[in-house]
Amino acid sequence: MTVTRFAPSPTGALHAGNVRTALVNWLAARAAGGRFLLRLDDTDLVRSTEASAQSIRDDLAWLGLVPDAEFRQSDRFALYEAALARLAAAGRVYRAYETAPELDLKRKVQASRGLPPVYDRAALQLTDADHARFAAEGVSPHWRFRLDTGGPVAWHDLVRGDAHVDPESLSDPVVRRADGSWLYMLPSVVDDIDMGVTLVARGEDHVTNSGVQIQMFEALDAAVPQFAHLALLTGADAALSKRLGSEGVAEWRATGIEPQAITGLLARLGTSHAVEPVTSLAPLVEGFDFGAFSRATARFDPAELAQLNARTIHLLDHDAVKDRLPAGMTEAAWLAVRGNLTTVADAADWWAVISGEVTPTVAPEDRDYVHAAAETLAGLQWTAEIWPAWTAALKVASGRKGRGLFQPLRQALTGRDHGPEMAVLLPLIGREAALARLADA
Ligand code: GLU
Repeated sequence: MTVTRFAPSPTGALHAGNVRTALVNWLAARAAGGRFLLRLDDTDLVRSTEASAQSIRDDLAWLGLVPDAEFRQSDRFALYEAALARLAAAGRVYRAYETAPELDLKRKVQASRGLPPVYDRAALQLTDADHARFAAEGVSPHWRFRLDTGGPVAWHDLVRGDAHVDPESLSDPVVRRADGSWLYMLPSVVDDIDMGVTLVARGEDHVTNSGVQIQMFEALDAAVPQFAHLALLTGADAALSKRLGSEGVAEWRATGIEPQAITGLLARLGTSHAVEPVTSLAPLVEGFDFGAFSRATARFDPAELAQLNARTIHLLDHDAVKDRLPAGMTEAAWLAVRGNLTTVADAADWWAVISGEVTPTVAPEDRDYVHAAAETLAGLQWTAEIWPAWTAALKVASGRKGRGLFQPLRQALTGRDHGPEMAVLLPLIGREAALARLADA
């Protein structure tokens, strides 16, 4: 069974980049009839907060990306400890004591000799006596994973195709700090093994990590999951999006962006599939294919999101929005106005036009025409087809046509120059209110 996971650090809110990662993992799981897990990478106990964890859960729920299970790394330290012991017994992790300034100095010396800044593995030469001496001095070791430098690590990436990383160009990564805290690399592998993760989809900034982690899976005798590294989104960085007033899920939500617009855009951005409005995740699951993702970076454009949002709202049915409409607003009224909305909240303005007080905005030279039109209307049988019947009669009686025929009626009945079709609005406004507005004009 396909098992995917979304593994954010709960140190901030979700933004376009990590929503896309969550979405792609959710879609891949659903498309394969598998499971989608939420793993909170909270090994950094200082920066991780419960408020951020909760906002991530809330945002995912709002987007419809509900996980099948949730885990947090801070509950799982014992597992990481056991894996470290196993790797130590196999000689794949080792203790080192260099301080940050010492490592810095090593790198400077390497740079001056034109060498790459790769850790020289000096700690592998330490004897039992050396370790005992550090212990006696109260100096705790940090732990490094010993990379196998016998050749490139290669895998078939679902997005990038044949991928490889050369371990020789990398330092043996520190997996645990001297204070006992864990770095990202090993716990992630331990969890992926324990949770049966079969597919890891994440940003291409993790390609090098994947090379290292594949060696960790192998060192722990575990099956290596499939990898899909997505090209990054540009324009999704906080500075740019802040300027445009849409930093992340919370801000989008507050400005009337619908979850379907976000998922509709992020599922298709940077793929060969067209961005189209969708009212649910189902069509995105159906067409999901890692092969459609481009290796080139895609630009996340908040203006494109706003545009897709409007097109999405034009398709939403009444059930999807009724909790957010003003009291009493009917399905017919929603269907009449949705095509003119850029946010669902704007429906309230149109409901007021339909059912509330309207100040007619008729030009003085059109008043007589409007008052005569009121008389014509009063004499007609009121049906759902009242608008064509009425305007046909007015055309004959007034000799007006086109804009001159219709616009004063719109201005009298809605107080606006633009809006939904009058043929749909007039039956909703109703006979009595219509006659009153025409009389007021
Ligand atoms: N917490 C890591 C991140 O947000 C997870 C990376 C991964 O998917 O393994 O970058």
